[in-house]
Amino acid sequence: MEDRISPQSLEHLSVQDLSAQRADARAEELRRTLKQASHEYYVLDAPRLSDEVYDSLLQELLAIETAHPHLITATSPTRRVGATPSDAFAPVKHAARMYSLGNAMNFAELDAWFDRIEAAVGNLDASSFSLPICYSCELKIDGSSIALNYAHGELTRAATRGDGRVGEDITANARTVRDIPLRLAKGLLADLPQLEVRGEIYLPKTSFQQLNKLADEAGEKPFANPRNAAAGSLRQKDSRVTAGRELASFIYAPSEAHMNPQEDAAGDFPRSDLGGTQHAFLDLLCQAGFRVNPDVQLARTRADVHAFCTAALEKRHDLPYEIDGVVVKVDSFALQQQLGYTAKAPRWAIAFKFPPEEKTTVLREIRIQVGRTGNLTPVAEFDPVLVAGSTIARATLHNEDEIKRKGVLVGDTIIVRKAGDVIPEVVGAIESLRDGTQRVFQMPTHCPSCGTAVHRIPGEVALRCENIDCPAQSLERLRHWVSRGAADIEGLGTETIASLIDAGLLRNVADFYSLGYEELRDLGLGRFRRDGSEQTFGEIMAKKVLANIEASKQRPFARLLFGLGIRHVGTTMSDLLTARFTTLGQLQAAGIEELSAIDGVGPQIAHSARSFFELPENQAVLQRLLNAGLQLKNDAADHQLEQSLAGVKFVLTGALTQLTRIEAADQLKRLGARVSSSVSSQTDYVIAGADAGSKYDKAISLGITVLDEDDLLRIIAGGGLDGIQAAGKAADVSTAAEDVH
Ligand code: AMP
Ligand code: ZN
Repeated sequence: MEDRISPQSLEHLSVQDLSAQRADARAEELRRTLKQASHEYYVLDAPRLSDEVYDSLLQELLAIETAHPHLITATSPTRRVGATPSDAFAPVKHAARMYSLGNAMNFAELDAWFDRIEAAVGNLDASSFSLPICYSCELKIDGSSIALNYAHGELTRAATRGDGRVGEDITANARTVRDIPLRLAKGLLADLPQLEVRGEIYLPKTSFQQLNKLADEAGEKPFANPRNAAAGSLRQKDSRVTAGRELASFIYAPSEAHMNPQEDAAGDFPRSDLGGTQHAFLDLLCQAGFRVNPDVQLARTRADVHAFCTAALEKRHDLPYEIDGVVVKVDSFALQQQLGYTAKAPRWAIAFKFPPEEKTTVLREIRIQVGRTGNLTPVAEFDPVLVAGSTIARATLHNEDEIKRKGVLVGDTIIVRKAGDVIPEVVGAIESLRDGTQRVFQMPTHCPSCGTAVHRIPGEVALRCENIDCPAQSLERLRHWVSRGAADIEGLGTETIASLIDAGLLRNVADFYSLGYEELRDLGLGRFRRDGSEQTFGEIMAKKVLANIEASKQRPFARLLFGLGIRHVGTTMSDLLTARFTTLGQLQAAGIEELSAIDGVGPQIAHSARSFFELPENQAVLQRLLNAGLQLKNDAADHQLEQSLAGVKFVLTGALTQLTRIEAADQLKRLGARVSSSVSSQTDYVIAGADAGSKYDKAISLGITVLDEDDLLRIIAGGGLDGIQAAGKAADVSTAAEDVH
């Protein structure tokens, strides 16, 4: 649900003109319903509202809050969508230290711990706790620990463990974790003036897999395991990124601040009995709305504890999240307190650690895979082995540096495991088992898919194939070309493009412009009618799509350049490059130095662009695009006008009637303006269409001149600000215009 809601979507909403009183009541109802739904979804695992209904209610609440900002509450479900980036994380001194846990690597070590506990208990005053000793057995969640503070039931702060004494304030990010309650349900915990609880934030295995897949595709370094991924996600500067990461929580303990008031506790932590035992406290946590791991067991004997550990070990691979052991805790808080702490860990708890699941096998071959965005990835292929519940036979080695770091040779006996219980991983080689037949792996000099010379962009780990005509990349490159911000060809979805590729009609972007009507009309879609005949694209669609393809020839240079999918050349970079170079020919002829000299173009981008244009394969495709009638240059007239809005910064918001926002932005950019998506003190003008939302409010609060659509049309028609200056609306932008020259 998270990624469907973005602050940007605010402005598309039309808010009925609710009276303030009515809006207040409605917002309250919506908040209550949404909180309940979210609790049912995330904590109870029993959703009653569909995702669509949830989203639609959330959008309504967002709309009301946008129209009536005073109705926004700190705990509103809309606050979960992620706040704007913060610069750094403020240090947080924990009211009581966050300890780590002592380890037991096997049952003998676990039993030694029981012995110590029992010996200690013999010397204690047994009047404050009851015997026999009970133990709370819990799964040891492999995530990132967190401390949550509540005041009178409201979340006030979330902090990482840090070094145990001082952590980092990650409140904004923690708010985006859906199952962390922002407000506690009525009861003992909600009534406390101060409550601090500890828990674990984790990333489910499937989300981890997905995240690493994306990282691999983007040529970025993948996370080693879900724990790192969770920690990394919590420490994002931009909490919108955190919000997109599907983090979840298990809360499992009160802070020591409640138990050991002798510490120099900051704040007023009541020494409430909090249920008196660990298992009773877990119930209180549940009642307050926290998500508590259901796999807990109260054990009275060592044998019971052993059985819990064995069972946990058996089911660990079936759990949707990773665990790395079992935590055994003395159940009674009074006894916990008497047992106390060593310098590093509580005496009253221990982590029974699972042995890492590693196996050995023989590395037969390293094969190169060409990713859909052009990265060459070496993949280890080894004799099949059973690891962590399933058989694996291949694992990505990510890139050349990784192979070197791991020191594996083809033919080596290697150690394999599963990162985060899901992703096969080569740990390293057993060098003593080498017999002289092993050989060093060489990365290829040419793309195995298309035979083009590959290269490495300075500062990046991956070797890349930049051939715009590379079969391995066809689908992705073609999809990018037809997308909105690029050539914008409507009617060509992923499936159709895939069918066209399969039919041999498309391979690179120039092929769009030689598609014939009949071949498109008769294209089989791989779907079959009842009578067994295959569905085809058909006349109507074929005509429409061909017209759209024709229209795409008129797209502005910057958007077509973006469509080429040159690494690191996104929309902003395309704007920059086409502002500097009037024609494709000029851009193609520019050397690294000339490119790097442009303000905003770094050596990486310069290198990337250079190597793209150097490839003969790419030159051939570009020539075909030119032959097909694509402009790939700025209009001569544009160039004269270009400077009239140089350096003036615009933000567009709300719905325009005469033209789309993309068109409006293009028109402004033709005049040299910069168009950005968020309002800041740097913004010169905000152009507000109908139903403008938060950007409008922000512009007003920053005192930025707000123009309407008529003003915009006047600017475009007049080629500058003269028209509106006459109307006395123009801001003083002379300084803004100066700093770009
Ligand atoms: P370690 O990091 O190996 O020293 O293990 C200690 C960490 O285990 C604690 O800091 C917690 O973050 C984590 N942990 C995970 N699950 C639990 C649990 N049920 N009870 C206590 N600690 C846990
Ligand atoms: Zn290739």
